[in-house]
Amino acid sequence: MYSFRSATYTSLSPKLFEFVSPPNLSNPSLLLFNSSLAKSLGIDPHSCTVDSLLGSHSCEKSFAQAYAGHQFGHFTMLGDGRAIILGEHSLPSGECVDIQLKGSGRTKFSRGGDGLATASSMLREYVYSVVMRALGIPTSQSLAVILTNQTVLREQPYSGGILVRVMNSHIRFGTFEFVSNYCSLDEFRAFTDYVIDRHYSFLSSSSEKYLLFFQEVMKKCISTVVEWLRVGFVHGVMNTDNMSIVGLTFDYGPCSFMNRYHSHKTFSQIDQLKRYSFSRQRDMLKWNLSVLGETLLPLFGSDDRIAQQLLVQELSSFDELFSTAFFTMMKNKLGSKDISPVLIEEFLLFLETYQLDYTSTFIELMDPGTFDDPIFSSQEFVKWRNCFSSFHQDSSLMRKYNPYKILRNHLLEEALFEFEESGSLKKINELLAVLSSPYQKDDFLNKYYFHPPEDFDELYQTHCNT
Ligand code: AMP
Ligand code: MG
Repeated sequence: MYSFRSATYTSLSPKLFEFVSPPNLSNPSLLLFNSSLAKSLGIDPHSCTVDSLLGSHSCEKSFAQAYAGHQFGHFTMLGDGRAIILGEHSLPSGECVDIQLKGSGRTKFSRGGDGLATASSMLREYVYSVVMRALGIPTSQSLAVILTNQTVLREQPYSGGILVRVMNSHIRFGTFEFVSNYCSLDEFRAFTDYVIDRHYSFLSSSSEKYLLFFQEVMKKCISTVVEWLRVGFVHGVMNTDNMSIVGLTFDYGPCSFMNRYHSHKTFSQIDQLKRYSFSRQRDMLKWNLSVLGETLLPLFGSDDRIAQQLLVQELSSFDELFSTAFFTMMKNKLGSKDISPVLIEEFLLFLETYQLDYTSTFIELMDPGTFDDPIFSSQEFVKWRNCFSSFHQDSSLMRKYNPYKILRNHLLEEALFEFEESGSLKKINELLAVLSSPYQKDDFLNKYYFHPPEDFDELYQTHCNT
């Protein structure tokens, strides 16, 4: 079913991975399957059985990747503790993607963990990746969720699940930290050349390829994080091991969409210091890039001082690059390139002061009178709307940048609760269907448009993917 090439990753130093056999499950069953993704990968959806999705018919050796990372600022050795890459699947276009199983059992990187995942946490990841994709945001993709027929013990017993995750790379900033810390300089250079040849091949023959590579990663990540800010997404755990080297959003654990605008909103129960709050995602990206950049210093040049200077210079361009991308995005949301950054900042302050729902506010600017909420007919709001409309807003632009529907936390929780209680996927499938067209305006009495009941956000807490 998969069209695996001979894996290129395993030609690297054996310190970087461990061969692990695919799971051998007694009676697994398919919960969700993404047939449109299968087709886009050149896979015939009818050929996908549970066994074939789990790699049973593959002749390639699957493997777990080693990586390290800074978790909440602290360096730790990590690695795929509950995931394996089944292989590198070739698309008809010639491109290649990693097919990964998450929740597939212990590896040598599991530390104290059981290597497993609950089905509901894998369903959560599946839903998030589909929603982010539909919103047009770079993301890992999900081919299937499989029920393992195993019990996973957390604070109570849960059904086990495996996610079949697809990314053009599972290499993280933390993979660079691992190789830089635990391998020789030759191995580090070979690894970096591998990443450049595989994912940034247009740089391969440049004499300055390492510096240019860093710039490209920075640009890609900036544009992804700006996209998060466009839709109110809070990743929740931007540790360097969760930062993709190709700029994809991935590892959907304690993430959430913000409802009422709150620049320091975090939902993650473990993020007490709000390190990864909504608007700090910008600073945290810069911090993570500085960690990545430090690993690359020996490749920037043999003179340490000059290499350091080059990195400082690159990082000093971050703020301007980010601000330009951010304000361009906000101007598009507001429908006019003539709206100034100062006005945008004042408007965000207004949202914060009145705790307005981020998504609904922009819908009200596009389609006045949509919501029956007194705040949208208040003098203050009407003043802002009139102010923006004096800039000759382009409504077709606004419709491209402002989703009508985002994944509302309370609806996702309801859907997952229904699955945990009864095994039913009815609400999950309904969410997936509605959110596959986030820019389409449906019946406005539809519950998907509304923010949650009062104080839901205040009480809502997300957890690391269990
Ligand atoms: P995450 O929070 O998903 O980014 O995971 C951080 C690290 O913990 C990674 O090295 C994971 O592989 C590992 N990990 C998370 N959950 C488990 C588990 N149940 N068993 C083994 N390793 C795990
Ligand atoms: Mg992770």
